[in-house]
Amino acid sequence: MNRPEPVSTDTALDVERVRTDFPILQREVHGKPLVYLDTAASAQRPEAVVEAVADFYRRHNANIHRGVHTLSQEATEAYEGARARLASFINAPSSAELVFTRGTTESINLVAQAYLRPRLAPGDEILVSRMEHHSNIVPWQILCEQTGAVLRVIPIDDDGALDMSAFHDQLNERTRLVGIVMVSNALGTVNPVREMAAAAGSLDIPVLVDGAQAMPHQAVDVQSLGCTFFCFSGHKMYGPTGIGGLWAPMDVLQAMAPYQGGGEMIRKVTFEGTEYNDPPGKFEAGTPNIAGAVGLGAAVDYLEGLCMDHVAAYEASLLDAGTARLLDVKGLRIIGTAPHKAGVISFTLDGIHPHDIGTIIDHHGVAIRTGHHCAMPAIAHFGLPATARASLGLYNTVAEFDRLAEALEHVRAMFA
Ligand code: PLP
Repeated sequence: MNRPEPVSTDTALDVERVRTDFPILQREVHGKPLVYLDTAASAQRPEAVVEAVADFYRRHNANIHRGVHTLSQEATEAYEGARARLASFINAPSSAELVFTRGTTESINLVAQAYLRPRLAPGDEILVSRMEHHSNIVPWQILCEQTGAVLRVIPIDDDGALDMSAFHDQLNERTRLVGIVMVSNALGTVNPVREMAAAAGSLDIPVLVDGAQAMPHQAVDVQSLGCTFFCFSGHKMYGPTGIGGLWAPMDVLQAMAPYQGGGEMIRKVTFEGTEYNDPPGKFEAGTPNIAGAVGLGAAVDYLEGLCMDHVAAYEASLLDAGTARLLDVKGLRIIGTAPHKAGVISFTLDGIHPHDIGTIIDHHGVAIRTGHHCAMPAIAHFGLPATARASLGLYNTVAEFDRLAEALEHVRAMFA
């Protein structure tokens, strides 16, 4: 993805109007108006999502599929309707290719165990990058322990950009899968996943894209990305927690073993043998998070109403303005300065522990995250145990970065 040209912040996205859609943004923290800059950990929800979930429980709640009564049929329609809207949101060729999961973590574990495990032999290689979230590292490490496969790591440079020539060199006849994050939650780097998928695809190597941090910031088209698997989480894209998805082409899903056994994933069960359901049901054992799916469908409607291209353009200019504002703070160093970035500004303040920064500025009403951001190897690359991270969403403003910068000046004064 190429970053859109910076535009003035009064573009097609009317941020002041957007802010009124998010009830939580009206609240105060420690007597100050909330500045929420922790969207990469979890986005806030617009009223439309809160209401869709509440309305489902108030009026339509029942278990889905196979029910002959009206409520069950309404719940099924709402659940499958959400699947169809999500599939179209990512331009999947068919909604049957979209498996509901608990989120990115479960989607990656599903691919590891149901797709890759039966295809691995000792000495085979799985290639991931140094900037992956732990959820795109640990499932592969478990798989390596189970099969004798080897995890290889694409290095990053000191801006936090991928070493693409190392990536090309590391692809070889033993590589069985490439797992790559589209937007790094720790550094903000936007990776050239389309180019990577093309390179791996030319060697018939499947590519899994961790789209957790891409979905809230830009339009995603899984067909044009050319990947084999695309994983995402509802709560990062203004939907509920506990719901997300995995997209893969139908022939890939059909060739995959089941992940978990139970109700819903079967067509017929006898003690002599069990026939599995077709995808996506085959991978959705047990009663799913029905209300979560309905809420995620509402989040998709909300984002489509705003237009993801407008969101991306607004956020690109906000990221530039926010970065410039933070660089005015003396002693502040930005960790992650790749040429293509989205949504995230990780930083340190000379001589002050990130946890102290986060705790003190909370008292100024400013919410950021501090720590390793579940990406320890990425942060360790910079010789650090932790950073402070401001991450933005479509509801943030330049004025909020002013509030963050002022709060950081207070921190500096306390440690002077
Ligand atoms: N990948 C990235 C890039 C993330 O930022 C996160 C969450 O922070 C995940 C994966 C895991 O997402 P979840 O906890 O929703 O499964």
